[in-house]
Amino acid sequence: MMGVKVAKFGGSSVADAIQFKKTKEIVLSDKDRRYVVVSAPGKRFEGDTKITDVLYLCKAHIEHNLPYEQLFQVVIDRYMSFKINLGIEVDLQSEFDIIKKNLHDGIGEAYIASRGEYLSAVIIAAYLGYDLVDTVGLIRFDKSGALMFEETDKALKEELSKHERAVMPGFYGSNDKGEIVTFSRGGSDVTGSLIARAVNADVYENWTDVSGFMMADPRIVDNPEQISQISYKELRELSYMGASVLHEDAIYPAKIANIPINIRNTNEPYEEGTYITAEPDKNNTKIITGIAGNKDFTVIALYKNLLATEKGYIRKILNILEDYDVSCEHIPSGIDTVSIVISNEQLDGKIDRIIKDIKNQLEPDSIEVFDQMALIATVGCGMSQRTGVSAKLFTALAENDVNIRMIDQGSSEMNIIVGVENKQFESAIRAIYQAFME
Ligand code: ASP
Repeated sequence: MMGVKVAKFGGSSVADAIQFKKTKEIVLSDKDRRYVVVSAPGKRFEGDTKITDVLYLCKAHIEHNLPYEQLFQVVIDRYMSFKINLGIEVDLQSEFDIIKKNLHDGIGEAYIASRGEYLSAVIIAAYLGYDLVDTVGLIRFDKSGALMFEETDKALKEELSKHERAVMPGFYGSNDKGEIVTFSRGGSDVTGSLIARAVNADVYENWTDVSGFMMADPRIVDNPEQISQISYKELRELSYMGASVLHEDAIYPAKIANIPINIRNTNEPYEEGTYITAEPDKNNTKIITGIAGNKDFTVIALYKNLLATEKGYIRKILNILEDYDVSCEHIPSGIDTVSIVISNEQLDGKIDRIIKDIKNQLEPDSIEVFDQMALIATVGCGMSQRTGVSAKLFTALAENDVNIRMIDQGSSEMNIIVGVENKQFESAIRAIYQAFME
């Protein structure tokens, strides 16, 4: 019986004619790759422009009554070069004419932004000889712009049952008025995942320009090891801290349908990449799966004698944060202390007022603010069955003179989060990596 794979190709996989060829070879080398989702062409080289960015820029020009034709020509030229270089038989001119007319008529931003994916799909469908299936009316959004998950699944199932092989544009769908609505940036990953669920794929392949996830950021750690398999839960812990290969919302649809996601590299198609699966890899003997982190957090540390006996203390702090529309990352606490960890981005200009309110309402004995903190998550399902993991981690940090300012172990025992000063961020990650990879 024929299998089903959904293959999503990101912007770098469709950036120029050479990448287009690689994409075609990959698709045609496996008969199971029946559903293909494409992004808009990305950067061809450092400093190049992404088509989606050019399209957003066109809209901005139109809004300011500035000429946009030259910008739109950049888009036209890019697609024409694919058509000419690869000899693809497709009528792009009439597509451009429709888009130009809509631009002229003042159509919305989402429509314009979505044309990158749409044109990619038109041209790749012709190049592969697959059906073109637009996602308008299939990927459905409600009035507020939220994805209608079950309606989408039903519509996709119904339509795709009519197509043995199809190419679909990523990134967008439509609302009940038929207007285009996009996901947030990078959202073609979400489209691929929804389609994988709808066709009950054996695997959702996400083709990009890296061979999956590394155990740590290669800009910090030299030659970090590749992660061959990671569970959805572990990835969630890592992505939340900064790993950015896959759009966060792409996990859920594949996860509920129990479909593994395979991150692959279009430039190194023989590499297996990283598998993201429901269960952690049983054969994995590694204690940790990965390390990730972010700089620029603020810790507000409160001390109050007999704090532990006071009722509703943390709730009151959270109420104050809510008043300022601020969410917090962690609340590590001791008997008479409680700290609140918030990303600096969230606080932007609000910190003084928040501190004032905390002082007034909670009357702490002391309150200290550290605004140059970094958080590092060390993640791995293997940690929970082993003893001495945190001892190893803290010893490694101590031996490298890293001062730990905060510790938080997730209740799943799948991660240990430490707070260090921004300036010790890199050395802390290197120390942890070395300790566990020896
Ligand atoms: N082209 C869109 C973006 O640049 C969506 C995507 O590539 O996934 O964000």
